[in-house]
Amino acid sequence: MRKKRFLLLAATLVLTLPAWTIRVNAKDPKPLAALTFDDGPSAANTAKILDVLEVNGAKATFFVIGRNAAENAELLQRAKALGCEIGNHTYDHAKLTELSAEKIRQQLQKTDDVVTDSLGEKPKLVRAPCGRCSCGVRSVIDRPLILWSVDPRDWEYGLDRAQNTAQNRETVIRAATENVQDGDIILLHDLYAFTAECCESIVPKLQSMGFELVTVSELMQRKGIELHAGQTVRCAR
Ligand SMILES: [Zn+2]
Repeated sequence: MRKKRFLLLAATLVLTLPAWTIRVNAKDPKPLAALTFDDGPSAANTAKILDVLEVNGAKATFFVIGRNAAENAELLQRAKALGCEIGNHTYDHAKLTELSAEKIRQQLQKTDDVVTDSLGEKPKLVRAPCGRCSCGVRSVIDRPLILWSVDPRDWEYGLDRAQNTAQNRETVIRAATENVQDGDIILLHDLYAFTAECCESIVPKLQSMGFELVTVSELMQRKGIELHAGQTVRCAR
């Protein structure tokens, strides 16, 4: 009788183990991070970054300049097809804090029009050039304003080809991966060959650290954070 009871208990344990394991995993999902790329699209370098995202099954958000997007509709379409998100980074990288409300609206509208022509929908998110914002700017913008929590400073090396060295790439790769936490938003720029080369390491490195790379909208949604017009957000924590 005792042996029977023991066997029953053992069988119950074995049968319930998989369900228990799944429940533990559900409580402890993968950490999430959002790579964001500003100032593009760039015909050569955005394409290389999309290659890296595609090969690794990762997603990112591209805050595009309308003037550049107008010349690269096919890149926007490819980014969308890969599950990436397109955000609005003004039409010509204008300093929004120095513009009237009317001019701010025009900057966003012109970029919305370009993106809508390519994708059939306008961007849901805005990033102010250089992150410069004010109460006045926030009151005019009808969407959330996305900042960042990790700045690897790729822009310091991107402009000058002579700065595209293994040592500088290593510096930026480290800054973009070390100390990244669940919910971080990472700032990069898809204008530069330097950044595209760094991404070949940044994307797989973050994934090997356990991160799932998602768009900003997906990051917020999966963290249960609801965004409002004119709100500034640095990360999902
Ligand atoms: Zn910018």
